[in-house]
Amino acid sequence: MSEEGIAKLIRSDLVSFGAYIAGKSPEMLAEEIKVPVESIIKLDANENPYGCSPRVKQALGTYSHFNIYPDALQVELRELLQGYTDVSAEHIVASGGSDQLIDLILRLFIEPGDEVINCIPTFDIFRFSTQMCNGKLVEVRRDENYFVDVSAVKKAITQKTKIILLANPNNPTGTPISQQDILELVDTGVPVLVDEAYVEFSGETATKLVTRYKNLMVLRTFSKWAGLAGLRIGYGIFPPEIADYLMKIKLPYNVNVAALVAVRESLKDLDYLRDRVRAIVTERERLFGELNKLKWLKPFPSQANFILCHVLNGKANQIQQGLEERGILIRYFDHPLLKNSIRIGVGKPEHTDILIKALKEIVS
Ligand code: PMP
Repeated sequence: MSEEGIAKLIRSDLVSFGAYIAGKSPEMLAEEIKVPVESIIKLDANENPYGCSPRVKQALGTYSHFNIYPDALQVELRELLQGYTDVSAEHIVASGGSDQLIDLILRLFIEPGDEVINCIPTFDIFRFSTQMCNGKLVEVRRDENYFVDVSAVKKAITQKTKIILLANPNNPTGTPISQQDILELVDTGVPVLVDEAYVEFSGETATKLVTRYKNLMVLRTFSKWAGLAGLRIGYGIFPPEIADYLMKIKLPYNVNVAALVAVRESLKDLDYLRDRVRAIVTERERLFGELNKLKWLKPFPSQANFILCHVLNGKANQIQQGLEERGILIRYFDHPLLKNSIRIGVGKPEHTDILIKALKEIVS
């Protein structure tokens, strides 16, 4: 069948669907610039430069039940997460990365035409999954420092609003939202999803509040603080009624056995992992200071493990290109709300040094 034939058969709203744009792989860049892949400095996807706990590697090397499906009810996993979050297991649902839960939550709430309030600029999966559900995105602009405009969000609520999406801290801006602001939105009665993918780098979590409200949900992940992005393990804290619905509609084996082993071992190695988180936070502040010294960049204070910068002089895509030529991956943005900006992940101290030297070479 011709390609046109296929386009006639698939969902008409998906024919021109805007994909989520993920970064270039280090393997691809290494091939392009003819260097060993180990020398690529990857600061484009907010990963943990220190990797995972050594206990995870050891345990996976000796694990021998890869032939058995994982537990669809996630009994051990939810208990482990109960221990980590101090919220009882009935509130918890785990998933293959927290992005899978964003998708699942929107599928639970959104019927075609329902409204989703999104505080832009923010994590593009919010847009992606809303549109996949045929929901209507109601976009509320953040203020000039990228803080959520709470009164504008409240004004945007209509009879059709099904959910308010908030990333705390926000990606790609690193901006936090206060518990007071979150509660002001929760008090509207509309379901509120607080995505805390980076909370281990920022501090204040709303997990405990979930037990007090029927319309508050919090998402967390092991991708960033625990260095497990490649194993795909995230989870959410929900009112038990919502958790039950999510358990019902999730694919049965949505968390693989390697991820369960990795969570078990990571949680036995919290001191090690928290040390690495502290190193990243310290390095974030040093990186901010170094970027701030470059007169042609305006970095924004960040509570996460990356820093957004406006490029005041020069072109963001050329900066990104110049860094790629030197084996450094970062993200650039050039859409109406993030004009001429770059986002740099926090690496190890030596990565900061190489990055700053490269930036000085590119714009001398
Ligand atoms: N939420 C936010 C705000 C993110 O930035 C990310 C990762 N880029 C995720 C969720 C997804 O994380 P994961 O699926 O790896 O848990």
